[in-house]
Amino acid sequence: MFCWNCGKENPNESNYCINCGSDLHSNIERKDEESSRNTTYEVLILVGWFLSANQIIFFLTQPESVRGLSIIVELGTFIMSIVLINTKNKTSKTNGWIILCIWIFIELIGLMAGFMIGFMDALMQ
Ligand SMILES: [Zn+2]
Repeated sequence: MFCWNCGKENPNESNYCINCGSDLHSNIERKDEESSRNTTYEVLILVGWFLSANQIIFFLTQPESVRGLSIIVELGTFIMSIVLINTKNKTSKTNGWIILCIWIFIELIGLMAGFMIGFMDALMQ
């Protein structure tokens, strides 16, 4: 196998690189961790876009006065997904979940505000 650190070829059974001394197996774990982190992020982004799509459908069925809110909420969704994609390789899973929680929070606030305005409109008529 090739050393992840210096690129030197090592016998497959060796634990440490003969050239630089790096732990050859620690990198295998690291790669697994990285790929599971990437999967988590992809799932988070999909969940976010799913919520976002639901919201678009919800807002389209609402009175015109509420629809303006959808722009704000969608903007929040868009920014969150950009943040999530940009931090994909840098942050931990925990940070990803925090971002998703903020995202869902924005979506919920938007939904509640939409319902409130819709309710007010119904009362006025
Ligand atoms: Zn090496």
